[in-house]
Formats: sequence, structure tokens, C-alpha cells
Amino acid sequence: MTFVRRPLLAGNWKMNGLRAALTEVQRVAAGFAGAPRSRIDLLLCPPATLLAAASAIAAPAGVFLGGQDCHSEPSGAHTGDISAAMLADAGANFVIIGHSERRADHGESDALVRAKALAALAAGLTPIVCVGETRQEREAGRAEDVVGSQIAGSVPPGFAPNRIVLAYEPVWAIGTGLTPTPQDVARMHGFARERLEAALGAGQGPGVRILYGGSVKPSNARELMSVDDVDGALVGGASLRADDFLAIAAAW
Ligand code: PGA
Repeated sequence: MTFVRRPLLAGNWKMNGLRAALTEVQRVAAGFAGAPRSRIDLLLCPPATLLAAASAIAAPAGVFLGGQDCHSEPSGAHTGDISAAMLADAGANFVIIGHSERRADHGESDALVRAKALAALAAGLTPIVCVGETRQEREAGRAEDVVGSQIAGSVPPGFAPNRIVLAYEPVWAIGTGLTPTPQDVARMHGFARERLEAALGAGQGPGVRILYGGSVKPSNARELMSVDDVDGALVGGASLRADDFLAIAAAW
């Protein structure tokens, strides 16, 4: 089977953004409505408090909305948590799962990340499952081991490849201004695709979109996005300003 992997540019606002930041959503929506719409999917993941308002602005322009995390259960006594169905109800189509900041700050294991991805799928959301090695792991020559075991443990098996997105985000590149070389990115994405094939079933690997994340900005987007097996980007800092985010979108 031949798969067409439509590029996906996702912005992760993390714990940034008050209502005043909805003007940035407006500017992204206005910029996208007139520009590279047909070539890529554009996604903004603002804090959950802004999702419904952002969705009212972004959805008519064809910009997708996503959450940054969800609980692994559909509902119940979990004070402060947000379910996948709540995100969908607020207008989300995607949800980031297992970001390295969640894995580090909240001790999220591969098993929990997989349970959250399953909860997202059950609610009709597309999970963006994040994996990536730390600096120490890379320096010890263990990057592939770590990413391979994160994929095996976090990606739920048995789903069509277009229902899941993988994000490769080397932890040492997040928010640091450092990026791997294009050769390293190509190697890790090729490796991740092989492991996805093992996780999802024979022939399925080529159907999964694999995003690169970690210090993507307008000045390096074109080079990183032209690497083999890179199907888009998960962008943190440079997604907070509409101008930067749209400049990255122009890489396609
Ligand atoms: P950054 O973050 O673009 O600020 O490096 C990326 C991410 O954490 O998804």
C-alpha cells in the first residue's frame, strides 16, 4: 500500500498563554487561510483554558486544535485532570501525549503514555506520542535503545497508521537552541519508522507521520523539514508568536 503523509506543523504553547494570546491564534488563522493551506496541516496546542475560545477562531480557517496531555481514564475522581473527551468537546482534534516534560515532571512511564494514547483514540482524538533521548543517553550511545523501547512501550498496537502521530524530540534539543545534524535526524527517524512497523504491524510504518521537535525555528525549519522521514515539526518556543510559526509553515 502507498501512503501519502501530509506534513503536520504543530505548535505546543506549553504553560504559556492568557486570553490576550488569542490574538496570536487569530493571526495564525488569518495567515493560514490565505497561504500554504493545501500543502500542510497546521495545529495549535494552547493551554486547555484557551482551547474552546481558540477553536472558535481557528477551526473556521482550517487550523486544528490540540491538547497537551489527557488522563488515561474517561472520567472520574481525578481532581485537576482533563479527559480526552473534554478536550474533544472543547474543539481539539489532537493531543500531545508523553512529552518529555510530562515524563520528567510527572514521572509518566511508557505504560501510562500508552494508556493515555488509548484514551485519546477512544475519544476520537489523534495522539501525538513523544519520544526522545536525554543528552546523557545520547553521549552513552544509547539514543536508539531508548527511543526504540519508548516506541515499543508507548505506541498502542493495532491502530491504522493515520490514527497516530509520533514526535521524535531529543530532550537535549528542547528549548536549548541545539539541534541534531540533519544526518542524525534522518537516522533517528528512519530507525523510529522501523520500530513503528514492529509496533503497528507489517506494512504500517510508512503510514505514520513522524514529527521532529526541539529548537525548530524559522531559520532552521527548511533544512530540518527536508530530511528523509521527517513529516513535520512539533514546535515549542517558536510557536508562541504567529509570525514565527507562519514563517516555519513557509518551509513547505
Ligand atoms: P522548543 O520545544 O521548540 O521550544 O525546543 C519543543 C517541544 O518541547 O515540543
